[in-house]
Amino acid sequence: MSLLKRMVEAPLYIDIRKGALDDLATVLADQRVSSKGHIAVVMTEGGKKKFEERLKKAAPNAEFYISPGNSLNDAKALAETLKPKKFDAIVGVGGGRVIDLCKYAATLLEIPMISVATNLAHDGVASPVSILENNGGRGSFGVNAPLAVVIDLDAIKLAPDRFIKAGIGDVLSNLSAVKDWELAVKENNEKMDGLAASMARISAEALLGRADSIGSDDFLIALSEALVLSGIAMGIAGTSRPCSGACHEISHAIDLLFPDRTQPHGEQVGVGALFATFLRNDEEKFTELAFALAQHQLPLSHRNLGFNDEEFSEIVKAAPTTRPDRFTILEHLNLSQNRIKEKIKEFNDAISNLKI
Ligand SMILES: [Zn+2]
Repeated sequence: MSLLKRMVEAPLYIDIRKGALDDLATVLADQRVSSKGHIAVVMTEGGKKKFEERLKKAAPNAEFYISPGNSLNDAKALAETLKPKKFDAIVGVGGGRVIDLCKYAATLLEIPMISVATNLAHDGVASPVSILENNGGRGSFGVNAPLAVVIDLDAIKLAPDRFIKAGIGDVLSNLSAVKDWELAVKENNEKMDGLAASMARISAEALLGRADSIGSDDFLIALSEALVLSGIAMGIAGTSRPCSGACHEISHAIDLLFPDRTQPHGEQVGVGALFATFLRNDEEKFTELAFALAQHQLPLSHRNLGFNDEEFSEIVKAAPTTRPDRFTILEHLNLSQNRIKEKIKEFNDAISNLKI
C-alpha cells in the first residue's frame, strides 16, 4: 500500500501577539507541558533586566538562569547544570544565540524547549537547527524543534530596528534558496519537498509588495509568522535547504574570510540572495527582490555591507566551499575568478539602473 499521508512535526503552540509573555505559565499548563510551572528560564543579563519581573509574575515557580554563552560546550554545560533539577521544560528567552543554546540543551536532556523570541533577526525561532560556536567557527547542529513558540510584540519593539530588518532579509532570502533547490532538482538529481518549498516561498512572498514596514503591528505579525513557518519548513524538509542556498553560502564566506567585519546575518543573506538572483538572469525577480530590500532599508550590494568589488569576488569564489554538499547557482555556473569580477561589475550596474 502506498503511503497516503505523512506526519509533520510542528510546534504544539504558537502565540504571536502583544503581551504574550505574560501568559507563559498558563500556556505551559494548558498544553500539559508543565502543570506546576517547574521550568528553567534561560536568558542573557540584558534579557534579565528587561523581562525578569514580567516572567516572574507569569511563571512564579520558574527558576532563572543566565545563558553561559553560545558555544557547543556552553550548551552541554547548561544541560549538566539543569539535569539534577528534573525540569519539565527549558524556556529560552532571547535572540538566536540563547534560543539555539536552549534547543541543544533541551535535546540532550530530552525535555521540551519553549522558544520565547525577543527579537526577529533570524529564522531559528522554530527551526530544528542550533547554530553554535565550535572549533573556532560556527557549526549547525540538528536538534529537536521547539515545542512552543511565543513572540511578544511589545518585547520585539524593545529590540533595535536593525534586528527586525535582519529578519526580513533572512525571510526574503528564501526566494533565492527555493530557486537554488529547484535548480538542484533539475541539474543535480536532488529531490524537492513540495510542502517545505511552498512554505518557505509563501513566507517570503507574504512580505513582498506591502506598503507597511516594521512600525506596524500587522507587519511584525507577518514577519513573525514568516520566520516561524520558515523554521517549520526546514523541519519538514529535514534540512535547511528551503531557506538556505547561494545566499547563505555567500554569508558564510563573509563570516569566514572577514570575521571582524561581519554584518547581521539577515543583511548578508539579503545581499547574497540579490546577487544569486542576478546570476540567474531573472530580471523580474531581481527587481522585485531589490525593491523589497530597499523598502525596508536593507543593503542591496556588497558595497553597502562595506566590501569593495575585489573583496566581494573573493567572497563569491569561496562561497561554495562553505557548504560542499549544497548545489546552488554558484556551483552550477562554477565561475572563474575573472568571470566573477565581470559579473560583480554587471551586478553593480544593474543596481544603479534600478533607480531606487
Ligand atoms: Zn538564515
